[in-house]
Amino acid sequence: MDICDLAPGYVRAIAPYQPGKPISELARELGLREDSIIQLASNENPLGASPKAIAAMQAALPEVGRYPDGNGFALKAALASRYGVSQEHVVLGNGSNDILEMAARAFLAPGASAVYSQHAFAVYPLAAQATGATGIEVPAREFGHDLDAMAAAVRKDTRVVFVANPNNPTGTWLAPERILAFLRRVPADVLVVLDEAYNEYLAPEQQADSARWLDEFPNLVVSRTFSKAYGLAGLRVGYGLVRPAVADLMNRVRQPFNVGHLAQVAAVAALADKAFVEQSFELNRKGMQVLTDGFRRLKREWVPSHANFVTFHVGDGAGVFQKLLRQGVIVRPVGGYGMPQHLRVTIGTAAENERFLAALEACLAGQR
Ligand code: PMP
Repeated sequence: MDICDLAPGYVRAIAPYQPGKPISELARELGLREDSIIQLASNENPLGASPKAIAAMQAALPEVGRYPDGNGFALKAALASRYGVSQEHVVLGNGSNDILEMAARAFLAPGASAVYSQHAFAVYPLAAQATGATGIEVPAREFGHDLDAMAAAVRKDTRVVFVANPNNPTGTWLAPERILAFLRRVPADVLVVLDEAYNEYLAPEQQADSARWLDEFPNLVVSRTFSKAYGLAGLRVGYGLVRPAVADLMNRVRQPFNVGHLAQVAAVAALADKAFVEQSFELNRKGMQVLTDGFRRLKREWVPSHANFVTFHVGDGAGVFQKLLRQGVIVRPVGGYGMPQHLRVTIGTAAENERFLAALEACLAGQR
């Protein structure tokens, strides 16, 4: 008997998440210096973390001998006040990935199903599959979510629908009124997980006031993160805004100390540092212009993006990815997302964007 045969078939069938290639790994493989490599593969903030968050962590370092506050009082209080909800409406996650998984674990089981879009964030099928539920992938429209088709795909056994806005890896965005219309259409006994990990990269007039929608929709989970515009990806801290009854269920499947002390301290400081988020937004807006101008010049098509990355067409995604690696530029292949002819690049600093475009130009020239 092989012990592994005893794991449920739906666990054995999971295809693991493919993270971006770390700088240290490429440096080892190619014998390059780490500082000669640029990593534009994981949608991180090119400015790093807010200096205020770093200072807050430094001050809190002597406290790490103790467990973190398992209820995250200070961070929940800060988030509740920011969004005009009570602390009971906030669930904290080890990254927003944890929020997506908690929602899945709390509401899915074998015999249930979850609906998500083609080309949507890879964690939705993973989180659903880990519970034994069936995943229903709905064909995308112009690389974005087809909300009408997604609403129509909801079955009697559907318990969760995942909507990414903006979506990763396509960067596609849905206007708030379209999401609202979708929420009105989805049955009240289906949880709608609205993943807004890239919310802070939207222009203010594009951002949905999704916390307000909780009044009307008890079946809504709004998922947000400190990993992107707040620059704290390495700490793993995200949050869900939900009705208290849903929070109570999600907390039952939550690890008791899922968000570390330094992560909580840094998140409180980062949330207050509005200037850093504005600076990150501005840098991203300018970088988006530089990259899309570059794609136009290089005659590459791209999917119009509302996030901190762009997915662009190269033909042979895997081949160009390897060529870019040899030039010390790490981007993200998206073949696993059903887009083998595309690559995804995270918007970096001005210097990184120029370096990426020069490397891409060289790779494409070599292709002809
Ligand atoms: N949602 C989307 C759409 C993402 O792209 C990501 C990060 N790749 C996440 C959620 C999870 O990020 P984190 O766990 O760092 O909050």
